[in-house]
Amino acid sequence: MAEAAATTPSAPKIKIKTRKPRQRACDEKSEKGKLCAGHLKRWYDYPKAVEQLVGAKAEIYRCEFCKTLYKPDPNELPRSYVLRY
Ligand SMILES: [Zn+2]
Repeated sequence: MAEAAATTPSAPKIKIKTRKPRQRACDEKSEKGKLCAGHLKRWYDYPKAVEQLVGAKAEIYRCEFCKTLYKPDPNELPRSYVLRY
């Protein structure tokens, strides 16, 4: 049972980065070395697989182009919680 959490072969690989202070555009590079620069959008209705990684109702952002996920910068003060339905 100890290794069950570490190895989940069926789960898709989800990349989560941490935003730099005031970062608004994706800084992922493509295989050609081109900067993605996609807009990071707040993502509210993420799937269960992501919820397991970041928790429910977490503040998470997603690049509109490469779909890389971004967590807010831990040094930045958290935004006031606004629930959206
Ligand atoms: Zn991107």
